[in-house]
Amino acid sequence: MRKICLFGATGSIGKSCVDIVSQFPQQFGFATISAHSNIDALFELAQSQRPQTAVFSGDADFNAWERKFRTIGVEFLHGTGALEEAAARDDYDVLVNAIVGAAGLKSTLAAIKNSKTIALANKETLVAAGELVMGAAKENDAPIIPIDSEHSALWQCLVGENMEEVERLILTASGGPFREKPKSFFRDVTVEQALNHPNWDMGAKITIDSATLMNKGLEVIEAYWLFGLKLDQISVVIHPQSIIHSMVEFVDSSIKAQIGLPDMRVPIQYALTYPQRLPNNLPRLNFAEFNNLTFFEPDTVTFRCLQLAFDALAEGGTSPAVLNAANEEAVWAFLNKKIGFDQIPLLIEDALENHSNHRTVTLENVLSSDAWARKFVSEKQ
Ligand code: NDP
Ligand code: MG
Repeated sequence: MRKICLFGATGSIGKSCVDIVSQFPQQFGFATISAHSNIDALFELAQSQRPQTAVFSGDADFNAWERKFRTIGVEFLHGTGALEEAAARDDYDVLVNAIVGAAGLKSTLAAIKNSKTIALANKETLVAAGELVMGAAKENDAPIIPIDSEHSALWQCLVGENMEEVERLILTASGGPFREKPKSFFRDVTVEQALNHPNWDMGAKITIDSATLMNKGLEVIEAYWLFGLKLDQISVVIHPQSIIHSMVEFVDSSIKAQIGLPDMRVPIQYALTYPQRLPNNLPRLNFAEFNNLTFFEPDTVTFRCLQLAFDALAEGGTSPAVLNAANEEAVWAFLNKKIGFDQIPLLIEDALENHSNHRTVTLENVLSSDAWARKFVSEKQ
């Protein structure tokens, strides 16, 4: 049985991972689960999944909860460093990191140093510190398998292929709920409108990122680090139906696509069973229901965030860390109704322009740039 350490168990990806693990009780079980604000949900999950350990990284009445977890025979870890402590243990085989934001970086690095397999949903880790993370993964022999649907699609298309024969990666994007709207529309967008994604049911932060197209920008950076190609070998196409999850074009002009219904349980399961596949009962695609798959060029003028991500990656150093942290702050500010939807790209651009880039990417530089960008954006609101 493969033992899983699942960080971010109470979120959208976390719940889908629990669903998959429950379908394969012979193959998978939980060593650890974690949450950050929802301790009741963590306890409920601990009751149903019976991991050895439950980690709570936020604030709570720890003594009372410690007693409660003891009654169900689950160890309770909490406080700063608890995620890293759990990631450094030897009681699991694969870390599924489904934490949202750069908050997932340190625990991913701890699992990498522990030479564990990483099934990565937490794309912000690669955006903020791709060079560090991939370097550490190589050094410690820790495979990083993507959960993000586009990257899982690329990963699947690349099985058995030679990277030197890849011409380009084509990331598909749904375009989000405002795909056909003019820029002038963005000033009055409400939180409720932005949270209403046409194809995917996801956590709040990534749903806003999908509406601004920053999600695709973060995914370009994620793909750059995962697959080790040049920036000009990564392109984006808008595909509103989200049936083709991404494509690889080869030097002989042949293109491979990975296709299926939009359901994150598919890439989660693949990341857990790779290089094998296991039969499941997930809904199947009926081609007759999708007789109109369409494709468009992304509009990087209207959706400025996508362009900012390409620019930050080209700039290199700590620019992607600033892009990511400024975006996180701006998105939470929008969700808390402190700023308008149209201010998100403006604040990120302002942070990128005012940041003094560290060319050498160390963990200290990434963390200080991240902290600087958060402060910069919060002071501008
Ligand atoms: P959610 O907001 O639904 O869940 C986030 C999880 O992380 C929760 O378990 C939350 O705990 C925990 N968490 C939040 N903040 C912190 C923190 N500071 N430290 C530690 N844990 C924290 O997000 P999603 O599941 O949607 O997304 C998770 C990651 O997966 C993101 O990086 C996202 O980009 C990526 N992803 C998501 C997809 C999706 O379909 N949802 C698709 C592809 C990628 P609590 O609930 O207790 O607050
Ligand atoms: Mg994605």
